[in-house]
Amino acid sequence: KPALVLFRNDLRVGDNGALSAAAATHKPLIAVYILDEESEGVRQPGAASRWWLRNSLETLVQRLDKLGARMVLRRDRMRSAVTDLLDESGADAVFWNRRYDQGGSAGDARLKQELRERGLRVESFDGHLLHEPSRLVTRAGGFYKVFTPFWQALSGGTEPRDPVDAPEKLNGYSGKIASQHINELLPLPTSPDWAGGLRESWTPGEEGAHACLENFLSGGLDAYADGRDFPGRETTSRLSPHLAHGEITPHQILAALRERARKASSSDIAKFRKEIGWREFCYHLLFHNRRLHEKNFQPTFDNFPWVTDQSALRAWQRGQTGYPIVDAGMRELWRTGTMHNRVRMIAASFLTKHLLIDWREGERWFWDTLVDADPASNPANWQWVAGSGADAAPYFRIFNPVLQGEKFDPDGQYVRRWIPELAGLPNRVLHRPWEAAASVLDTAGVTLGKTYPWPVVDHAKARQRALAAYSRMRGEG
Ligand code: FAD
Repeated sequence: KPALVLFRNDLRVGDNGALSAAAATHKPLIAVYILDEESEGVRQPGAASRWWLRNSLETLVQRLDKLGARMVLRRDRMRSAVTDLLDESGADAVFWNRRYDQGGSAGDARLKQELRERGLRVESFDGHLLHEPSRLVTRAGGFYKVFTPFWQALSGGTEPRDPVDAPEKLNGYSGKIASQHINELLPLPTSPDWAGGLRESWTPGEEGAHACLENFLSGGLDAYADGRDFPGRETTSRLSPHLAHGEITPHQILAALRERARKASSSDIAKFRKEIGWREFCYHLLFHNRRLHEKNFQPTFDNFPWVTDQSALRAWQRGQTGYPIVDAGMRELWRTGTMHNRVRMIAASFLTKHLLIDWREGERWFWDTLVDADPASNPANWQWVAGSGADAAPYFRIFNPVLQGEKFDPDGQYVRRWIPELAGLPNRVLHRPWEAAASVLDTAGVTLGKTYPWPVVDHAKARQRALAAYSRMRGEG
């Protein structure tokens, strides 16, 4: 009897516990991808993620084909699709890798129980994370709310396991099973075709993921610890969308670091591993706070006096706030589906503190526009910046977007790339164009209010307003 192997956010063949275990049974395999748009609690991917998913899935279908297994594609609820496929094929075993998002993990737990009650073999595997969130507990038996002790507990033990080798050949099921066409499931954008910037920036798929890792190990890693905060330098790995879609696992990344990166300094490696640790921490928080994208981690923030301001929100989304570092980030996001981490922090802080707009608005925008939109990292980081999250920065530390720009983009390379209309300004006023003399603006061809906006808010006033809002929330004002 055949076995089903479900693919979800694990679009890979290497280090795929479910696939390898299914292959080891020598049963005929049916690889399955179900686009589940209806099951309860499943958060639908945003537009940029869907674009990625479509392209990544296409490469996976080809890879599996070469290995000997055809992929069945369907749009349905996970539960009904799996039961249909079991009935249609007579399969008696189902393999999958675990999910950790709200709808996914709850749905999988119910499905596992139901199928086991029917006498079927159901096996689930790790891979998306280094740790099982249900198993890592504090001494008091709870979950970690602060990163450092979490990371110590996680990295203090043994090294993570080695990756599982990719199967060299698969015994694909030869019976007839209906599949939808990928174009029906996930059409590419045509009119308008907004994905040009994404195509130029990324190679979705398992092969692209490993090329990205190789590139980082032989380049950026050497300068990672010092360079990772500078958006104009190419020192970060750009692995996040590959990780989000499960084209590569943290186990594979750490194994490659152990093997290949002996030449890199230990501080670069330690810093990079710690960032992988932040991803784990975000999942840990999500596991214990299922509605992380909707609900303040710190309930005091339920009283925060957020402001509704559609025009300010739109200015932020479009990269038209008048603060160059914020606008450069938002335009990079719109065009390429990513934004440098330092700039994500600045842009998120600007929305929640300078504009006093609810972090959930920003989280939703990122969810729709990021190719690495992640159910754990996105809300956890938004809450961290907004001050409502676990281990969050103290609220009164409000980023000054001018000083942040000058510190982390001192030569203006990043701002000039994304805001070409400011490219002619000298560095000393690039991050504060409203302070430039008329003649300087003239020479650079900048007309504030016309070619580039005036700041939507004044930094000092916005800071005072944010601090007053915080005091009100705490019942102090
Ligand atoms: P590198 O610096 O090379 O880091 C390596 C890996 O570590 C990343 O690929 C990522 O998986 C992980 N990582 C690094 N920083 C963080 C972090 N702060 N939190 C969690 N994991 C981290 N990351 C996402 O993957 N998806 C998101 O939806 C997301 N939303 C964010 C929203 C905000 C407001 C902020 C401030 C950060 C967000 N991040 C998110 C975290 C971080 O910005 C990205 O992971 C990082 O920019 C990806 O680039 P990289 O792969 O080159 O990172």
